Amino acid sequence: MKKLSIRMKITLWFGMVLALMVVLTYTVLISISGSMMQKQLQNNLAVTVEDNVDEVEYYRAFPVNKIDNGTDLYLNYGTGYLEIDDDFLDKVNGIYTGLYMEDNSLVYGENPIAKSLTETPFQDGQMQKLTVDGEDWYVFDRQLVTAGLEGLWLRGTVSAAEGHLQLSAIVRFSLVLMPILMLLAVFGGYLIAGRFLAPVKQITQTAAQIGQGSDLKRRIGLTDGKEDELHELANTFDAMFERLETSFETERQFTSDASHELRTPMSVILAECEYTLEQTRTPAEYEDAMQVIYRQGRKMSRLIEDMLMFTRMERRADAFSMQRLDFSELVESVCEDMRYVSEKGISLETEIAPGVSVMGNRDLLARLLTNLLTNAYRYGREHGHTVVTLCGDADEVKLSIADDGIGIPAKDLEKIFLRFYQSDAARNGNGTGLGLAMAREIAEFHGGKLFAESTVGEGSTFFLILKKADA
Ligand code: ADP
Repeated sequence: MKKLSIRMKITLWFGMVLALMVVLTYTVLISISGSMMQKQLQNNLAVTVEDNVDEVEYYRAFPVNKIDNGTDLYLNYGTGYLEIDDDFLDKVNGIYTGLYMEDNSLVYGENPIAKSLTETPFQDGQMQKLTVDGEDWYVFDRQLVTAGLEGLWLRGTVSAAEGHLQLSAIVRFSLVLMPILMLLAVFGGYLIAGRFLAPVKQITQTAAQIGQGSDLKRRIGLTDGKEDELHELANTFDAMFERLETSFETERQFTSDASHELRTPMSVILAECEYTLEQTRTPAEYEDAMQVIYRQGRKMSRLIEDMLMFTRMERRADAFSMQRLDFSELVESVCEDMRYVSEKGISLETEIAPGVSVMGNRDLLARLLTNLLTNAYRYGREHGHTVVTLCGDADEVKLSIADDGIGIPAKDLEKIFLRFYQSDAARNGNGTGLGLAMAREIAEFHGGKLFAESTVGEGSTFFLILKKADA
């Protein structure tokens, strides 16, 4: 059997609940209104019989002056006459009323079950229930007490089925109305469920298209302004697709830039080899060629190492254990090492507050510091100065590395942190264009910030802000 859709399941569920409610309502309705109708019927019977009490009168002599409209009935009774008023209700709404003598003989009126009641004694003002031929009947008697009428009884009878007849009219009405209402509710629910669930189809299609990699730019884009759960879900998906696209794009860009960066030194190596091998060269020429190949090889090696570092940091964050470490001591020791490799006679001065701790990875932070200090040397001026300052307040650790070198134009202050970005002047140097991108990545990996301030021709200062270990 084909799997049921959510829409169908919801509709079936509500349909079944409604059907159950209808059946329950019928049952309750029938039982409550059944007993109400029977009470009502007994009440009507008693009232009809009571009303008829005043419609019977006794006259000693024939009341000649009363015979005006000829509609009242006169019967000989004893030594006088009985007058049965034309208002006497002998048969109304299934209720029969009869006028009886004490010995159960009928004087006037009707009684459909008279034969069965010959043995039933009169009981004044009592409601009796009898079963005649399998059918229930109510019987109500009233003794007439007005002078001259003593010994006469009024007996009212009505079949209990009269109550059922009235009841069935209500039930019949609801029998027709309730299923119609139920069908309307189920059909309406089916339509509404369809409308509410429509975005799901759109979400599935978009996710499938993106999943197949056909179009990363696709979005679900529910723009009808509604604010239900499915719209929220669709918007969350769209935000996720946006991030995925950006991340794929960055990845693609990185791969393309990396290949491009590797191609340059490789081309130089190949060209140098081809040139050198064209003819026999002197040992000095071979040495020159080897120098070129070595430099380019080292550049490629640095590039590959940096790229691997990025990948490790992005793919396996757990590869770098974090621990509480004395950042003052780390900065001091990196500066000590860097003093030995100082270029262009640049001096390295430090102002390091002692005992500043951070939570971090020693190797990564050392790499970040080395990258910044290498740049300070690389882009510093001859016999210039580099000043490293470290201080910490209650929450933060602030490190600055200031040089008095070439400086960075304001428009490039953010670009320098992009992967493979290099100023034109730096292109032919030893750099890979990955140093600052990696430094920022390491800072963010530690939940910190890295940014620069600079004045062209005067120098640059790089700031690293990290959270203090105890903060
Ligand atoms: P590179 O390997 O080229 O140094 P980086 O990512 O470390 O790559 O730096 C990117 C660019 O930022 C450099 O090419 C250079 O133009 C600029 N830059 C970095 N540090 C400094 C600095 N201290 N002074 C001036 N320019 C700098």
